Amino acid sequence: MTVMTTALHDPRPLSAPAFAAARRGSRGDVALQRTLKSPIRCAGIGLHSGARAEMVLKPAQANTGIVFRRIEPTGRSVDIAASWQNVVDTRMCTRIGLPGGPSVAMIEHLMAALAGSEIDNALIEIEGPEVPVMDGSSAPFMFLIECAGTVEQSAPRRALKIIKEIEVGTPDKLVRLGPSATPTISYDIDFDSPVIRRQQAEMKFINGTFKSEISRARTFGFLHELDQLRAAGLARGGSLDNAVVVTADGVMNEGGLRYDDEFVRHKMLDAVGDLYLAGGPILGRFHGHRSGHHLHHAALVQLFADPSAWRWVEIPAVAAAAVVDGRFAATA
Ligand SMILES: [Zn+2]
Repeated sequence: MTVMTTALHDPRPLSAPAFAAARRGSRGDVALQRTLKSPIRCAGIGLHSGARAEMVLKPAQANTGIVFRRIEPTGRSVDIAASWQNVVDTRMCTRIGLPGGPSVAMIEHLMAALAGSEIDNALIEIEGPEVPVMDGSSAPFMFLIECAGTVEQSAPRRALKIIKEIEVGTPDKLVRLGPSATPTISYDIDFDSPVIRRQQAEMKFINGTFKSEISRARTFGFLHELDQLRAAGLARGGSLDNAVVVTADGVMNEGGLRYDDEFVRHKMLDAVGDLYLAGGPILGRFHGHRSGHHLHHAALVQLFADPSAWRWVEIPAVAAAAVVDGRFAATA
């Protein structure tokens, strides 16, 4: 069992450079929205379809949100907002689409990188049905975003503040969202595999911790399930280059695991990506118990169904200062 915590209520004052960095370019005392400084391109294969896709991450205007532009072979393009309202499938990965129209699958690892990099607005042009799996984690997308650079915009950044606790699922598999002054994610998994077994982790979600503690955790699958998945048209692009492959007594990947508890950390990464479909960062506490994409999405559906359970709030600039400093000062 591993528990990750970050000192969030550190009583020390913010360092002068961190405070200055937060104020620089900020309007008044609120944090500002961010987009990419310049477009950046990548290409790769989809984990499930095995199809090659080309993708360009582009800057977008304030208040656009994250939008996927699916470019079809005919050249026709369709815009699909990265919203919980556009989720059309949650088996094995999260897919968004328009009714009867095109869709984009496996968006969650890219969405997690956008959330972890605090990108509010971006246009993701994609030629292909599925976001490239890259190495199975969010790290290559974090790297792309860092290469493109980010820039502040003139509109205040908003967070979805959770006011009332909601819960979806059953005691066996559930997701709980509740109020918290600092964004917190906890997760536990319990697999009938001696390689994974029970893993539990908790972290205060700030930009710095996502990158160092979560972003490199890769997706995983079991060797004995591979034939079954492929027969169902899934995992066709899966390989040791883009997934941890678990056998009866270990992992097949040369070099082993990136974190001792890489499996639960990847589940947290998925949750960060799926929750970003709320339309902004969540100011609250998430707990996942043996959960997955389906319940991550169901939690957002249930949350938004009750207008008294949430409200949008502007993020104080002091929060941004704490991210710069590697800490998050409680502000709410
Ligand atoms: Zn995943």
